Amino acid sequence: MDSPRRYPRKGRSLEDWTPRDLAPSVWTLLTADLTAGADPEGAVTKARSAVAAHERQEKRDTKLAPIEHRITTGLGALANKVRNGAITHPEFKDRGTDVLRTGIHEGMKAGAEQAAEEEDVPVDLTADSRYGEWIFGEADALTNGQQRYLVGVLEDITAEEPEMGDEGGDEGDEEEGDDEEESEGDSLDARFALYGAQAVAAFETGYLATSIAAGGDDSQQYVIRHTDMSGDPCSLCLDRDGKAYTTDTLPGIPGAGGFGATCMGGPRCRCHLEVVDDIGDAEMGVPGDGVDFPGAAEAFAASLDFGE
Ligand SMILES: [Zn+2]
Ligand SMILES: [Zn+2]
Repeated sequence: MDSPRRYPRKGRSLEDWTPRDLAPSVWTLLTADLTAGADPEGAVTKARSAVAAHERQEKRDTKLAPIEHRITTGLGALANKVRNGAITHPEFKDRGTDVLRTGIHEGMKAGAEQAAEEEDVPVDLTADSRYGEWIFGEADALTNGQQRYLVGVLEDITAEEPEMGDEGGDEGDEEEGDDEEESEGDSLDARFALYGAQAVAAFETGYLATSIAAGGDDSQQYVIRHTDMSGDPCSLCLDRDGKAYTTDTLPGIPGAGGFGATCMGGPRCRCHLEVVDDIGDAEMGVPGDGVDFPGAAEAFAASLDFGE
């Protein structure tokens, strides 16, 4: 969408303009703005940034789909093994944690690689590079934060064992699920899919840490939050779309922290972050808790010193 010929010009009607590269939702947004009498230049700038956000989102989806799939199916397979007694509960916890750690590590590396590619700097993410080690440590910390939920999964598997359906087990404790109509199997699958979506926060963490580390300390860097309009964003994400933050004020990383933390959709957040030196016309967003990546810049710089 870089060629000016693709934008409507003054005095030409919209119909003359073919929206070749526009996602339908972006096209709807643009025509709605123009119909409502918005300044065409502003409306096009807005549409252009919406296209960029959508493309970035699709790129992330493509990279994360196989990773999410491995987490989801990996945990599902382990749940089956618990059900038929092939593995014990502690083994489920250990192996489930390994599945998660691997997926989160892969997601984080994918984000780091994309940032390095955009910043046009080399990045060494192998286990014996300083930065590869730093990324692994971060992935491990994120995994540990999730591990306790695997205990909850085990409890649910144990609860479903009598196979009596919802009516059968009137033993008092079973009421917690708020009368969910879906079977335990369905709700477990949904939970495994949410574990798969942990790769999103991992990706954005790797992306942000690497973008900042690659930018060096020479200038103040800002982080602009973007949402993908085609993803039906929640009010939190919509409100923060296009707003600028510093690392000290950024209200969390997309997908991280659970439901309602940075997004009502929790790990399914379809927002991403952009690191810039200059915020242009962007407004500063309402400050949040900020993010911190201790040791990332040093590890990144050290991993660039090849041949030492
Ligand atoms: Zn959201
Ligand atoms: Zn979001």
